[in-house]
Amino acid sequence: MSSGASAMGNSRVGNRRSSHDVAPPRRAHARGVKLRYLDRLMQSQWVKLIAGASFEDAPQIRNLAFIYASVGVDCIDVAANPSVVRATVEGIDAAMDTGSVHARPLLMVSVNDDESDPHFRKAQLTQAAMCPADCTQPCVRVCPADAISSERAVGATSVRVSEAQCYGCGRCFPACPHGLIEAASYRRTASDTAQLIRSHAVDALEIHTTGLDDGESIRQMWQDLGCHEHLKLLAVSLPETALPLIPRLNDILSANASPDMVRVWQLDGRPMTGDVGHGAARDAVSLARTAFDRNLIPAGHFVQLAGGTNDATRRYVEKHDGLISRLGGVAFGGYARKAVKDALGASSCERIEEDEAAMAEALQAAGNVVDSWRRRR
Ligand code: SF4
Ligand code: SF4
Repeated sequence: MSSGASAMGNSRVGNRRSSHDVAPPRRAHARGVKLRYLDRLMQSQWVKLIAGASFEDAPQIRNLAFIYASVGVDCIDVAANPSVVRATVEGIDAAMDTGSVHARPLLMVSVNDDESDPHFRKAQLTQAAMCPADCTQPCVRVCPADAISSERAVGATSVRVSEAQCYGCGRCFPACPHGLIEAASYRRTASDTAQLIRSHAVDALEIHTTGLDDGESIRQMWQDLGCHEHLKLLAVSLPETALPLIPRLNDILSANASPDMVRVWQLDGRPMTGDVGHGAARDAVSLARTAFDRNLIPAGHFVQLAGGTNDATRRYVEKHDGLISRLGGVAFGGYARKAVKDALGASSCERIEEDEAAMAEALQAAGNVVDSWRRRR
């Protein structure tokens, strides 16, 4: 994996304004709202929408936020990019303005402590001009985000990756028979993230770690952030290999966490595969089972499933006796985005609520996503 984009940080796609330009949401969180998301976690009913740590298409994110806020998700997790945060606030505000949303979802941003987490990468072409004219373009077909476009010319094909739309799933890397697509990994900087958090638009932070350096980089990032008092909720997302580090990471993060900060461990089964099929849902469930069996989750903290989660997740959870009551809930990424993709994509309206038919279709699909987790309680 290339690390050529390591300096991208927050100065990436659509980020031409200062972080200070992010306006706070129009409504402050009332105490009752806090109790709502806490209640949801305590009752295993919490549902988070993952818009994508690297997905930076602000207009699409605005409409995703509107739709999923409208169907009652508890949290919307987006890239730590000022344009994306602004779009998310706008989408949530529009949903709240309908008067039918009972509790404003938390706005979370995701960051990484090093470049090894696959959520923080973009596809890039190594030699765009070299695509053979007779290539059948499997890269275009496998991309779930429609991020790759092509243009045929005499003797060659010109291919382009939309940096804003690519969320780093990695499916195009092996799809190219000529090896012309590579990963460009990057790291969100603590200082840019701190500015976003201080803007009061952001309620929650998720730090992705693979635990490569025994927690040293997460300690450094947490220390450099220096605005812990602004956060209502802190989550850590980690893969199976980092599970044994949970007690150490907890010690590191607890040093500066306020006592009433809600703490969540996101167990990332098979990253960015929720839209692939039901089998993907098993890994996150078995990861949770392992974490509980080894007694790794600190008392009072919550566990959220992610990485391959979809409408089969609840069924797999229920195969394990008593597991559901030990979970805070679930995070849906690719599965949730795919569910509403056609409805949102078919509309020519910038604001989805201006297209009643498309909005109704998207709300129905998004409601089914949320119900796939909550309805069986
Ligand atoms: S397939 Fe995945 S990694 Fe490749 S361009 Fe599309 S979103 Fe990006
Ligand atoms: S699969 Fe590879 S060679 Fe073919 S169009 Fe895509 S990037 Fe070019």
